[in-house]
Amino acid sequence: MRLVGVIAATEFPDEQVLRCQTSGSIAALRVAGLHKSYDTIEVLHGVDLEVRAGERVALMGRSGSGKSTLLNCICGIEPFNVGEIEVGGEALSAMEPVHLEKMRRERIGYVFQSFHLLPTLTALENVEFPGQLMNLPAGQRCERARELLRLVGMEHREGHRPDALSGGERQRVALARAVMNRPRLILADEPTGSLDSSSGDQVLDLIEQVSIDEGIAVLLVTHDHNTVRICDRIVRMQDGRILGASE
Ligand code: ADP
Ligand code: MG
Repeated sequence: MRLVGVIAATEFPDEQVLRCQTSGSIAALRVAGLHKSYDTIEVLHGVDLEVRAGERVALMGRSGSGKSTLLNCICGIEPFNVGEIEVGGEALSAMEPVHLEKMRRERIGYVFQSFHLLPTLTALENVEFPGQLMNLPAGQRCERARELLRLVGMEHREGHRPDALSGGERQRVALARAVMNRPRLILADEPTGSLDSSSGDQVLDLIEQVSIDEGIAVLLVTHDHNTVRICDRIVRMQDGRILGASE
């Protein structure tokens, strides 16, 4: 999809974003012609992908097809060789490291298969943590974190540390943490991969609810066909390429 460099009204204060000419809405994510190699081995061979604002996209493909690598490039933790990635209309390649870090904190929320909660912090403190990195005042931070714990049904566990929570409960806390800074995009890498089917279903419903309530786009990597029920579209990846999309 072609973008035009038109400056539009923005959801991000103080910043300018591009509008997508064809849809008229702000793209949450645009990846164009992305190539990525580890040493001499190319693992992404020209990936093109767009996720519209508020859209939920399932990214499916065999193990080793490059899904996690793509997510790592999108969030800026892996460098790429050729191509462009825009998050909220801003090109990653144009960003200084400090700006990239800020963009990552403000605009992207992450949910991982293995939760990645900080073990020494309580559920409430884990959810507050991204707000702390953004220097949000303590009162506002705590209020927002409590509201999110309520949203994911974990308010009664706010003082528990991760090792006192079940897998499903940990993932619900991780989802609340991902949403703390009101990102425009959630990257979820097999978020139900370590959960039993009932906990997984609950987490999926919550991802959908949060995406709708807060208007957040989701790019969700999964092997599980059940997961796609919350998605607007499936994108398939094979050997470092996007095969095609279905609505
Ligand atoms: P998926 O998430 O779809 O299972 P990955 O993105 O993890 O796939 O991996 C894609 C390919 O890149 C695989 O062949 C994998 O071995 C390779 N790869 C992933 N990470 C690294 C790394 N840090 N160094 C070298 N090769 C890697
Ligand atoms: Mg992976």
